[in-house]
Amino acid sequence: MTARDVLLARLRARTFDVLVIGGGIVGAGIARDAAMRGLSVALVDQGDFGSGTSSKTSKLIHGGLRYLEHGRLHLVFESLRERSILRTIAPGLVYPLSLLLPVYEGDRRPAWKVNLGLWLYDLLAGGHVIRPHRMVSARRALALEPGLRLDGLRAAGLFADCQMDDARICLANILQAVGLGAVCGNYLRVRALLKTTNRICGAAVEDVRSGRVIDVQAQAVVNATGPWADQVRQLSVTGTPGRLAPTKGIHLIVPRIAREALFVQGRADARMLFILPWGDYSLVGTTDSPVHSPLETLAADADEVGYLRETVNRVLPGSSLDEEDVVATFAGARPLLAFSGSPTTASREHHLEVDRWGLVSVLGGKFTTYRRMAQQAVDLLIARNRWKAERCLTGEVSLLEATHPASLAHWQELTRTVDPDLLARWLIRYGISALHILRLIDREPGLAQPLCPHHEYLGAEIIHAAAQELACTITDILARRTRIAWSSCQGLDALSKVTGLLQRYAGIPEAELDRQVEEYRQFLMRGLAFRRGAVGSPLAAR
Ligand SMILES: Cc1cc2nc3c(=O)[nH]c(=O)nc-3n(C[C@H](O)[C@H](O)[C@H](O)COP(=O)(O)OP(=O)(O)OC[C@H]3O[C@@H](n4cnc5c(N)ncnc54)[C@H](O)[C@@H]3O)c2cc1C
Repeated sequence: MTARDVLLARLRARTFDVLVIGGGIVGAGIARDAAMRGLSVALVDQGDFGSGTSSKTSKLIHGGLRYLEHGRLHLVFESLRERSILRTIAPGLVYPLSLLLPVYEGDRRPAWKVNLGLWLYDLLAGGHVIRPHRMVSARRALALEPGLRLDGLRAAGLFADCQMDDARICLANILQAVGLGAVCGNYLRVRALLKTTNRICGAAVEDVRSGRVIDVQAQAVVNATGPWADQVRQLSVTGTPGRLAPTKGIHLIVPRIAREALFVQGRADARMLFILPWGDYSLVGTTDSPVHSPLETLAADADEVGYLRETVNRVLPGSSLDEEDVVATFAGARPLLAFSGSPTTASREHHLEVDRWGLVSVLGGKFTTYRRMAQQAVDLLIARNRWKAERCLTGEVSLLEATHPASLAHWQELTRTVDPDLLARWLIRYGISALHILRLIDREPGLAQPLCPHHEYLGAEIIHAAAQELACTITDILARRTRIAWSSCQGLDALSKVTGLLQRYAGIPEAELDRQVEEYRQFLMRGLAFRRGAVGSPLAAR
């Protein structure tokens, strides 16, 4: 019996309290919350956990300075409070980031307005402020970021928000839910909802990788499918009007072009763009445009890449960013509530809906507020079903589990010879689960070898991802469990070692690995498809 067979058997074996459809951050947060309150939980996602929108973000846990302009004070207040909670429960995955907001002559937001906005931002953060903002002179701004365009620079705002690892936060929620007994499966697509005479009682789920279909029974079903939510609502009530108006946003990954994290004003449409440090790279984003293609196939196009490049080259003229400098791109769809007006001003607030069959849909929101959205969804389920359940603890319990004495003794023994910097990195990334990596290396020291010179990951981390972190494919491992896909070789130099490890330690047959390598190449190519003729690029030839 394969691990997949066991998963499907466990999903079929009982009637769960809750079936969550969608393993993005919202679904993952709901599974963690519900499992912590003692409910039995199943969760399915048609792709990998976080592979929808929740790994395509700007990687910020933030109040959203620009929402102040649209008068969304409550959203900013709530987000800043959540920022503080997430820093407490996941300090390694959500960490402070200092941002510089340069102001130029003729900008739509002059220095006084930026100052006022940042002052209000601090005020709304209240006791949770990371560091009060400051306005600095043009000279000081240049000292901080020497690459900034000098011409017309008037001042800059300096403030703090938080950066995060989106895919790993999503996974941490899933893993903690699993640790509490939830049954969570990736590559499982809901094809239909099961109904009794008056309510939904589960879903028909297809194993995308094998084509098998099973029924998953549950007392309550939650639709947490982000931008796909209207499609699942239609499975419940055919023809129900859509509640979402998703917008597309893309990011570029380029060689490091700025020392500081920058929040810059776009000229043409007054959008605010980020240029953020991302390992050895800079992450540039984002755009906001209507979605014209199926959500599964979203990719950056040449115009969107051009728009971001132009803004970068205007603010950091020395960077001379060319199409060829773009290492990778990614695109996602914001699950915005249907709105009137421009995409930029659309609300990032969320809404819970219960349809006539009892399907609970969690609509809208942002990554930053996921924990709160999950709490409200689980509160609603408990109230509707009159369940006796524990109170919500998701804001108090560490996302990366607490250790226990037995593992602590083992920990001390295993860490004696490990480089403290490496150990610190693992603790941030894996929490106490780093113990599994240490055990692997203890048994086979060769697994402590780096996979290739272009990133810090070791062989043991690949095995850990496959064995302990529910990764099913090479793309899951290279793009979401690790960030190898965003290193200078994009994982291509490590591919043969990765496949060797997966064959030996995870028992994946060669033919399946060949299929997964091809899928990974397609994944990389999608990120470069904006370059006309990219299909013949060196990446494809390797
Ligand atoms: C470009 C961009 C930048 C952003 N930046 C930020 C930011 O910096 N900070 C912030 O707070 N927010 C940000 N957001 C918003 C944030 O990313 C989203 O609000 C959040 O990730 C949505 O999570 P979700 O779980 O609702 O949706 P998703 O992450 O999309 O998850 C939904 C899941 O449902 C699955 N699914 C769909 N249909 C089915 C089915 N039939 N069966 C099974 N599974 C199914 C999908 O595979 C998917 O994994 C950004 C969004 C975008 C697009």
